[in-house]
Amino acid sequence: MKKIVMKFGGTSLAAGENFRRMASLVSRYVAQGCKVVAIISALEGVTDRLLEASEEAKRGNLESVYRFKGEITEEHLAAARRSINDKHVREEVAEALRSTVDELEKVLTGIVYVGELTPKSRDYVLSFGERLSTYIAWGTLRDVGLNAQYYTGESVGIVTDSNFGEAKPLLNVTKHQVKSRLEPVLEEGVVPVITGYIAATQDGVTTTLGRGGSDYTATIIGAALGVDEVWIWTSVDGLMTSDPKIVPSAKVIPKISFQEATEMAIFGAKVMHPRALEPAMEENIPVRIRNIFNPENPGTLIVREQMVKPVDVVKAIALVKDVALVNVSGAGMIGAPGTAAKVFGVLGRNDVNILMISQSVSEANISFIIERRSLEKAVNALEIALLGRGLIREVTAEDDVCVVAVVGAGMRGTPGVASRVFSAVARRGINVRMIAQGSSELNISFAVKKSDGEDAVQAIHEEFRLDKS
Ligand code: ASP
Ligand code: MG
Repeated sequence: MKKIVMKFGGTSLAAGENFRRMASLVSRYVAQGCKVVAIISALEGVTDRLLEASEEAKRGNLESVYRFKGEITEEHLAAARRSINDKHVREEVAEALRSTVDELEKVLTGIVYVGELTPKSRDYVLSFGERLSTYIAWGTLRDVGLNAQYYTGESVGIVTDSNFGEAKPLLNVTKHQVKSRLEPVLEEGVVPVITGYIAATQDGVTTTLGRGGSDYTATIIGAALGVDEVWIWTSVDGLMTSDPKIVPSAKVIPKISFQEATEMAIFGAKVMHPRALEPAMEENIPVRIRNIFNPENPGTLIVREQMVKPVDVVKAIALVKDVALVNVSGAGMIGAPGTAAKVFGVLGRNDVNILMISQSVSEANISFIIERRSLEKAVNALEIALLGRGLIREVTAEDDVCVVAVVGAGMRGTPGVASRVFSAVARRGINVRMIAQGSSELNISFAVKKSDGEDAVQAIHEEFRLDKS
C-alpha cells in the first residue's frame, strides 16, 4: 500500500470537468489501497487576477472590487455546478464559496479605503485563489464517494517566516505539525484536500510560498508524511529535452536527478517551483510529473542522482528569453580587490536579479546577464554609484540577447562536452557573446543574439541526439 501526495495545478483544473478528472484519479488510487493527500492550486489565471484586483483596489477603485467579486463568484460557482452532482454537497460548497468571497470583498474594500497595499495584505488577497478552488475539489471528491476533509496550509500546520510573497517554511515545526495532524486522519481512510501555495506565520498571519508555490506545498507535505512519491499532475507529459515549440522532436525525459531538475526549473522550464524539490530531496522522496489528460503515461520521475543512468551527458536545453547583457569595464578594476563586490552590491541593493556572471582573467571587465525588465534600473544605478571614481570607465548594455542553458549531470567530469556544444553552435555560424559554467558542472550557459537563440538550441539538441533518447 502506497502513500502518495498528488498536486493538481491550475492548468490541470482549468475547466470544471477537470475536477471530475482529478476526483476520479484520486478515487482510482484510493480503490487500489493507496493513501492519497490532494494539494490544490488556484484555477488557471485566478492568482494573476487577484493580483490585478489588489492593484485596482489600491488605486481606490471601489467599482472594480464589486465587478471582480461578481466575476470570481460566478466562475467558481459554475465550476462547482459542473463538478458536483449531489445537490446537498453542491449547496454546501456554494455556501463556502460565497462566504469566502464575502471575506475577499472586505479585504479589497479595506485596501480601497486605506489606499495602501502592503506585502502582507497582498498575500492575504492572493490566498483566496487556493481557498476557493480547494472547496470545489473537496466537494467533488465527496461527490465521487470519498471521505474528503478540507484544510488550508495554515490549518494543516505549515508555518513560515514573514517574508511575504516568498515566505520560507520553518521545516521542523511544519513537519512535526503536519505529521501529527494528518497521520491519524489518513489512518481513518480520509482524503485530506489542502490549499497549495498558502501558509501562515507563527502568529497566524497569512503568507504565500512564492508564485507556483503549490508544488512546494506538495513536497513539504510529502516530506512531513514520508510518502512513497509526490505526483505533480499538470497538463504536459513531463519534463522535456527542450521546448517543443523550438525543437519539434523534443522528447519527454523519463528519469532525471533532483539536481538536474532544479537547474531546469531555474532556467525557466516552468514545470516546477525552483525550491519545491528541496524537501523531497532531503527525504529522498521521488517526485513524478504527470499529465492529467494522459494518465496512462508514466511522466518524468525525479530521483536521487545515483539512480539515474550516467550515460546521458546532456539532458535538456532551455532557452531563457527576456534577458539583457551588461558589461562593466575599466583598467582600474585590474587587481583592485572588492570591485566585483561593489558592482554586485549596487545591483543587490536595487533588487536586480543576476542570472549569470563572467569575468575574464584580465579582470578588465565583468559581464553579467539580468532580466531585461531591470536593465534600465541596473545601468542607472551602476552609473550613479561607480562612474567617475577611477575604477570603472564604462557600463554598456545589450538588450537583444538570450541565454542557452545546457543541463545534464553527465557533463561533470566528462571532457569534451563543452567543445561539442560550442562546435555545434559554431557550425551554424552563431557568435557566442558570453559563457559561464558553474563549478557544479551541471550546466553550461551562454548568451547569443536573440535571433540566434532557437537555432543554437536546435543545433545542440541534434548534436547530442536528444530526439533519440
Ligand atoms: N496559484 C499560485 C500561482 O499562480 C500557486 C500555484 O499555482 O502553484 O502562482
Ligand atoms: Mg501553477
